This record gives sequence, structure tokens and C-alpha cells, in this order.
Amino acid sequence: MQELSEKPGLPAWDLKAIYPDSSSRDADVALLRSLVVKFVEEYRGRLGSLDDDGLVRAFEAHAKISNTSSRIMVHAYLTFAENTASTAAQALLASAEELSAEVWGQLVFFELELGRLPGQFSSRMDAYAYFVQKCVQRNAHNLTEELEAYGIEKNLTGVQAMTGLFDEVMGSLSFEDKNASGEDTTFTQETALSVLHHADRAYRLRIYSRFLETVGSQKTVLTSIYNNVLLDHRLDWKRRNYTGAMEPRNLSNQVSSRAVDSMLEIVQSSYRIVRRYYTWKARYAKIDQFTNADIYAPVLPRTSPYDFAHAQDSVIRAYAGFDPQAGSIVSEFFKTARVDARVIPGKRPGAFCYGASPELDAFVHLNYTGDLRSIQTLAHELGHGLHHQLSRSQNHVNFGTPLVTAETSSVFGEILLNELLIQEARSKEEQLALLCAQMEGILATVFRQTVLTRFEERAHAERDSGRVSADRFSELWLEENGKLYGDAVSMVDAYKWGWAYIPHFVHTPFYCYAYSFGQLLVLALYQEFRTHGDSFKDGYMKLLSLGGSRAPAKLVSETVGLNIESDDFWLRAVSFIENMMDRIESIGPGPGVA
Ligand SMILES: [Zn+2]
Repeated sequence: MQELSEKPGLPAWDLKAIYPDSSSRDADVALLRSLVVKFVEEYRGRLGSLDDDGLVRAFEAHAKISNTSSRIMVHAYLTFAENTASTAAQALLASAEELSAEVWGQLVFFELELGRLPGQFSSRMDAYAYFVQKCVQRNAHNLTEELEAYGIEKNLTGVQAMTGLFDEVMGSLSFEDKNASGEDTTFTQETALSVLHHADRAYRLRIYSRFLETVGSQKTVLTSIYNNVLLDHRLDWKRRNYTGAMEPRNLSNQVSSRAVDSMLEIVQSSYRIVRRYYTWKARYAKIDQFTNADIYAPVLPRTSPYDFAHAQDSVIRAYAGFDPQAGSIVSEFFKTARVDARVIPGKRPGAFCYGASPELDAFVHLNYTGDLRSIQTLAHELGHGLHHQLSRSQNHVNFGTPLVTAETSSVFGEILLNELLIQEARSKEEQLALLCAQMEGILATVFRQTVLTRFEERAHAERDSGRVSADRFSELWLEENGKLYGDAVSMVDAYKWGWAYIPHFVHTPFYCYAYSFGQLLVLALYQEFRTHGDSFKDGYMKLLSLGGSRAPAKLVSETVGLNIESDDFWLRAVSFIENMMDRIESIGPGPGVA
């Protein structure tokens, strides 16, 4: 590892592989429009009368539209991401988005008509049966066309107005205070919460409390918004004949309520690990009365920066060490210029991997700064890339994955990298820093998101019997958080307003558990790899290559032989976390601690 002093060259991607010039893009736009006209003429109102061969032909025509539309969109989005300030790129993206809305607006009938099919097919339809089955499942909860249309219209002034108002309130939230250097500063949600990672404890406590109090100052409007969202959700699931508030989300995640329940139960019965970690951290950092403003406090030495060549080499070795095919797929991204890691003006911040169609290679975008997070991001996004490249063997309706399995390969890749870095670390402190960074990520994803879900369940249940007051929401919030933290972490007073700023509660009820679910799934798989070694790999690579062609439970049982509806599965994941905690304690608490 060397210092990042000489600004090593960062790779740029080459988008010519998508369209060599603008005329080939224009030709695709014209082709797409003609394909859509033909498809609508041929199939609208007729899907129910087709035999299986006819349906397969319809799917093949649909694939052509979908793949062409994706190519246009990927090209426009990546061009924009490279330089968001370019007016030409902005115009290209806007025209691709308008085209996409125009195309998919005309094709809405496809899934609606599929949803009304009886759902019994010959083997000719094997590749599409699962997709039709999902359309049929959704159809069972659809209202009449007239009601659906009126609902969409009324939502503009109903629940969408509520979520819009929430965003406006949160977006305009700010307060004045001194920053770490004593200068007068205006804090927003983002800058205030980033202070939780600051080394100065008094500063952390002050700014975190000020932020939460500022949220609390909006309690009248935030309480009203949340009550309306809860009631809207209740009216909706009841009228659509779901059996409970969480069921619509479980259906769209393609997981059974049983699997979700058993996952949440196991996580909740493992809260002790969280207390064990923070008790350790309080001792290591010598913090008396550890609070939830201390949970992200930096107490370990920063690892030295990684130049990009070293990062690339480590990530490839991490994947190749797991499986040679995985290593070669990942290194192919660099060989064919499909990674853009430059930090240049106008480039979109953050990181992503974009693979939108089985006909296209995926591209990876990141802003590489050389810190630990940066190299983990590289491993993460290339994990998505690996998943995409393997699932290209699936058709256009089967290759994408639902939320709960979308992060499997990316998070698995992060663990592979972390294990490699730990092995190659030059000091115990560096090992400890790597383990703690990983642990804090897991605690935030698995445990905190479960607390959020438990709060949400109770909020929805209470709204059944009438309007819920701000104080009551605060009570429920502190109770659920108290179960997690116990005596190990005391909550700052203003934390009672912690429920009021979580966007998922308002935007997408019960979204949060997917974070816990996805992360634990990966930990269980990794634990299985640890136990069975090589014999696990084929099943895992198969799992990735099947994309979203099966429901997650079936995917996992068919490939690696595990049952996500059993407690055992989730306990495997918990034992991985417990094992990490053992490693941390065996290295720490470190010098200078009694
Ligand atoms: Zn990801």
C-alpha cells in the first residue's frame, strides 16, 4: 500500500460498445417506435386468445422492445452520469426518459392481460410461466379498471400529497450551530447526521440532539402526515383483500410472510450481539455512559489509502480466490473498459452498477477516493456486475432480481474482499479497524432495520383503532429501540423524535425489512461457504445465474439446498455475526485499556 500522492490514473469507461455513434442510436429509436406500433396492433386485447406458441412469440416480440429500450436508456444514463453538467447529456437523458414513458405507457396492457390468463401452460411456456404467475398474483388484488384509474387520480391530492409534503418539510429542515472549527454553520439533515462520525464527542452529542429537536419542532405536521399515510395504507390493503398490512410488500418481494416473520424473530432474539459490540466499543474507546450519538464514533486507526491499481488487484484476487470464473468475469470489466472510477467535475456522485438487459454488458460507476469505503464500493459494485453477467443467460423478464436478493452478490463480494484485507493487514489495529467497519455496517443493516420494522408494525396496528398522537409514536419508538440497546447504549433525550424523519415509513411502508433480509441471506450463504468450502461454490454461482427466475425461497433451496423458511437458516447468519464478535474481542480491547 502506498500513499495516494501521485494521483494514479483512474480508469474511464468506453460507451462506444453500446453505440459507436449517434446515428446507430437514432436508428434504434426509430426501430423501437416501429416495434411498439406493431406489438400493440398485433397483441392488444388478444393475449387471452393465444395458444402457448402464440404467447411465446408475444414474449419474444416484447423482449425485442424491452432490450432496445434498455440499450437506449443505458446509453443515455451513462452518458449523463459521466457529465451531469453537460446540456447535451441532459437533453439525451430527458429524451430517453420521455421515449421510455411513451413506450411503456402503451404496453401496460401486456401485464394486465397476462394477469387474467388461467395460468396453466405446456412446457413451451416454461421460461415465462413464473412471470405470468406474478401477474396473476397481482391481478387478484387489483380493483376494477375504473377504480384503479380514479385511485391514481385521487392519490395526487391524497397519499402522494402527504409524501410530497414530508419531503418538503424534511428538505427545508435546517438549523444554525457552530461546526467543529467553531464557525457558524447551517446544518441540514445530511450534514448533521454526518457529524455522528466525527471524533469530538461533545460536538457529536450537541449536533445530533439539535438535529432531533429540529425534527421535533415539526411534530404537528409530521404526526399528521404519518397518521394519514397509515390510514391510507390500511384502507388500501383491506379493500384489495390482503390479510395484513405487511402482505402487499411481501408479495412484491416474492417472499412468504412466514419467512419474513421467522427472520425478524431470530434477529430480535439476537439483539444481545449488538449490546455486546457496543459494550466492547465503549470500553475500547473509553467512553462512559455510551450513547447512541457514539455508535459511529471513529476510535480505530484509519487504514492507509489504497491506490487504484492495488484496489483493482485486491478485488480481483478476492473474487478469483473464491472462484476462478468469478475472478475472470470481474477482471473482464477492467479489460473491456466498463469501469469508470474517475473523480472529475460534473460526474454523478456515489456509485452504481448498471445492467439493464440480458443483451448488454453491465457498467460500473464510482468516484474512487482511495479510502477503505472506496475499495469496498469497488468490490460491491463489481459483485452486482458479476451477478448481472451470470444472469444474462435468463430472458428479459427473468434476469432481474427482487429487492431481497438484489444485494446478494454485492454484499458477498464485500465480505470476500474484507477477508482478504484482514489476512493481508500489517497490524492488529488494521485488522480490528476492518472488522469493526464490517460489524458496524452489519449492525446498521440487520438490527437497526429490524427495530424500524418492529416500530412500523406497531404504528400500523395502533392506527387501526384511531389517530395516534406524537407522544404515542415516541413511546413506541423508544420501546422498540430500548429492546435493542438495553443497558449498553443510552439514547439521547431528543431521540424520541427519531421515528419522525425516516423516509421509508412514509414513502414505502415495510420497505426496511428487505435490508435485514438481504444482508442476513448473504451472511447465511457465507457461513455455508465457510462450512462446506468448495462444494458450496457451484450452487452459489448457479444461484446468481438464475437471476430472478424463481421466488427467493425456491432459488436458495434449488441451488444451495437451504430453507429460508426455517429458523436454522437465519441462525446460520447470526452465528457468522457472533463469530465476528469473537474475533474482535480476541484482537481487542487493545493497548491502554485496563
Ligand atoms: Zn448494491
